Amino acid sequence: MQKLAFLYDDIFLTHKPPFSHPENPSRLEAIMNKLKQESFLEKVELIKPDPASEEYILLAHSKEHVNYVKTSVKQNRFMLDEDTYVIKESWNAALTAAGSLVNSVDLVMNKKFLHTFCLLRPPGHHAESNRPMGFCLFNNVAIGAKYAIKKYHLDRIAIIDWDVHHGNGTQDIFYESPEVYYFSLHQFPLYPGTGTENEKGEGKGKNFTLNFPLPAYTKGEHYIKIFNERIIPELLSYKPQLIVLSAGFDAHKDDPLANMLLVENDFAEMTKMVKQFTSSENIPIISALEGGYNLNALANSVYEHLKVLNS
Ligand SMILES: [Zn+2]
Repeated sequence: MQKLAFLYDDIFLTHKPPFSHPENPSRLEAIMNKLKQESFLEKVELIKPDPASEEYILLAHSKEHVNYVKTSVKQNRFMLDEDTYVIKESWNAALTAAGSLVNSVDLVMNKKFLHTFCLLRPPGHHAESNRPMGFCLFNNVAIGAKYAIKKYHLDRIAIIDWDVHHGNGTQDIFYESPEVYYFSLHQFPLYPGTGTENEKGEGKGKNFTLNFPLPAYTKGEHYIKIFNERIIPELLSYKPQLIVLSAGFDAHKDDPLANMLLVENDFAEMTKMVKQFTSSENIPIISALEGGYNLNALANSVYEHLKVLNS
């Protein structure tokens, strides 16, 4: 079994903001240039993802949500909220972003690859079941997790979200589900304003949401401590069958949208800790890009993350 599949398609570059916007195609171009420069792509299997069918989008989103995005695209509505744009090309890009996760689940569950990395946009973790939000149209990781539950009957999936923003959408979709344990480390207060320690899940999902709201200027060593002392012990008792990473890189010290102090190596360290946890049981890791808006910091951090995933 090969270690790492790398899912990417140029279709993600066609989702372009109608005006200057931090979430734009140059993010993926910078990452691809870095990976080419480091000859990294020769070391992994490059796979073009298929667009997800609407049936799979509907596992995580309401019919109204899907129709709203579809009509907004058709009508060239541009702005769905103050920072979430769509153009004509956004529909296929968004379906393919979600499809990267669906394909990843098949690849790891059929043991074609141990892990996958999805280089995609638009990102997903702010998209709630019933609304697009914060640059996100469909919640890619949530669609992947729902698909793994439906198709492969998994009942213990851990989603670890280290994007600097709280993944309100992912939390919303799985708030009452013990089948998915959602972990988030994020700057607080910051957009979108959710993600307090008191948000722990409800009903059967109670205590399957664990938030780490962190003050501005938190360093990487504090993230590592949380992994060591809180997240890894929870994973040991939860025994996930699959780990999905909402891998945003905007907690980097050079990121223009937030104020944390992580450096490239901190993302490598967090990846190592998750990987060490999975290695004895061969638990698959599916990692999907979320945020990250300083192009150099983003490209270098993704490269460090990938080197560990492929090691
Ligand atoms: Zn973010």
